[in-house]
Amino acid sequence: MPEGDAVYRTATRLRGALDGRVLTRSDFRVPRHATADLAGRAVITTLSRGKHLLTRVEGDLTVHTHLRMDGSWQVMQAGRRTARGDQIRLILANQQWQAVGVRLGMVDLVRTGEEERLVGHLGPDLLGPDWDPDEAVRRLRGAPGRTIGEALLDQRNLAGIGTIYRAETLFLRGIWPWKKVGEIEDLNGLVSLAQRLLDANKSYAGTVTTGDRRPANQTWVYGRAGRPCRRCGTRISRGEMGAQPQERLILWCAGCQPS
Ligand SMILES: [Zn+2]
Repeated sequence: MPEGDAVYRTATRLRGALDGRVLTRSDFRVPRHATADLAGRAVITTLSRGKHLLTRVEGDLTVHTHLRMDGSWQVMQAGRRTARGDQIRLILANQQWQAVGVRLGMVDLVRTGEEERLVGHLGPDLLGPDWDPDEAVRRLRGAPGRTIGEALLDQRNLAGIGTIYRAETLFLRGIWPWKKVGEIEDLNGLVSLAQRLLDANKSYAGTVTTGDRRPANQTWVYGRAGRPCRRCGTRISRGEMGAQPQERLILWCAGCQPS
């Protein structure tokens, strides 16, 4: 699932292709907006907010998209035929470029003034210009009995963390994923580290938390179930967190992150 840094990179790509250019075609392949037509309007810009994308268009309109589990935005030259036709949810094209939204989890078209209705619930965006670690900590503390693993994925606390950064951040802080939020002394250090990890990867197509970009060396625990911990040699554990059907993958080192 794309995390905040991947969504941030997607917004950068969409800005490069669409900002300031007049749309020659829009093709909403979702029932709710099947008749919408943005042709003739210029795109103002695309912003990322956590894992959400907001593409603002002339005339007080915003296209809201979310990549969810396996969605993506692909940018290619205008007019080029695209494969995966049945998986396309939205196309925004100008004379030079077309942005093709494949398997998008959400596609909405709203008044720009109504964006808050879609993203107003989000906590501070780890990669946003208004990132506020104190506010993220305040929100986390609002439910001290919750496990930190679940709380970090809740986008209402802070926006942008998915299963990879959750696992890597908790490993680096030596925190057992099922530890209660109220029992963690330095929440500020935890969220600040998560922010630094995402920020370090926001311009790079990959997720590197070890500082080593060689393919086999990029993470501490994520993708390494059953293999020896890089620090202590204990085999990395793998499990699920959260109530069904929301449970999500977690990896940890029982040696470095004792319960
Ligand atoms: Zn270890």
